[in-house]
Formats: sequence, structure tokens, C-alpha cells
Amino acid sequence: MRSADDVLLLIDLQYDFMPGGALAVAHGDEVVPVVNRLAQGFSHVVLTQDWHPAQHVSFAANHAGRQPFETMTLPYGEQVLWPTHCVQGSEGAALHSGLDVPHARAIIRKGHHADVDSYSAFLEADRKTPTGLTGYLREAGVKRVYCCGLATDYCVAWSALDARAAGFEAVLIEDASRAIDLNGSLAAAWEQLLAAGVTRVQSAEVLRGLS
Ligand SMILES: [Zn+2]
Repeated sequence: MRSADDVLLLIDLQYDFMPGGALAVAHGDEVVPVVNRLAQGFSHVVLTQDWHPAQHVSFAANHAGRQPFETMTLPYGEQVLWPTHCVQGSEGAALHSGLDVPHARAIIRKGHHADVDSYSAFLEADRKTPTGLTGYLREAGVKRVYCCGLATDYCVAWSALDARAAGFEAVLIEDASRAIDLNGSLAAAWEQLLAAGVTRVQSAEVLRGLS
């Protein structure tokens, strides 16, 4: 079992990001059994849930003439416009029923402000508004954040980068994550992650450390 210094942060394991979902990540469902195995080794597990109001600014459908996967300049910067996904209370926003993490302590819901997106579990896309996760983890005495889930190059990467920026050690478990890889976004994310000091590991290495 990992020590109280460590938290496992499971990002956005929701139906809309699974095959068949509104913003499907290829093979996204394959990470569910992997994260279930990982979670058995952590006493502290936190989940995130992308959780948007229907009028959310990241939805292409809310911008006349815009298509999903186009980029748009918003007051806080460049925003990819996505298919409508993870609307609060919808089936698509629900966590995958195959998740087996009854001991998860908290669920951070992000992207709930209509005018700001939030890929990161720590800081919204305006780069100013905290979700509260940093304070929660500090108060719990966490020093190291193991990140995985969906998608590697967006919400998982941004969360790992912000964990580092907040002063935590950050580890990204590659095979417990899957990417969208839009216009080279996966390679760009890894470059940024490694430059920021995020450690890249496979689940087997983490599980080996648990035995
Ligand atoms: Zn979203």
C-alpha cells in the first residue's frame, strides 16, 4: 500500500469519453481495469468528473457557425471547441460503472463555470480560478500525485502540470491513460510534461512498488 504521501488521481472516467460517447477517446474503456488494479494499492484515491452546464463555452454547438475540434480565441486564451459532452446530470457525465474504487475520498467536478473550461483538476482554463484540490491535498499531507485517466494530452496532462506547479511531485501513468491526439497534441503534451519534471511510468512499475 502506498503511503499517506501519495494520492491516485483518476481523471474523467466518464461515459462521454468512452467509445460510443459524445467525445470518445479511442480505447478509453481499456484503462478501467488498469485503474481498478492501481486503486487497490492506494489508500487515498480522488476522482474527477468533467461537469458542464448545457450552455458551456467549450461546446461548438454554443457558437454559431462553429464546428467541433475547431479552435476559438476566448478572453482567457485559445479554446478547442468540443462536441457537447459531460452535461451536468446526464448519462454521459456519469462515471463508468466498471470503476471499482469504493474507497475514493473525493470527487472534484470541474468545468462547471459556463464561461471557462477546466482541463486541469487544479486550476481552470483562465489559469486563475482554483478548483480547491490543491488546498485539499495539502491539508491531507499529500506530497506526490499519481495522475491517469482521460485524456492523456488534455485533462491528465494539464492536471499533472498543475500538480507540479503547486509543488507536488507528479507522476503520469501512461498505460492507465489514453489520448485524443488532436494535431500533434500528445507529443506536445509529453514534451511539456517531461520538461516540467513530471515522471512518466507504466502501471506495472507502480504495482511492483506496491508489493
Ligand atoms: Zn469538458
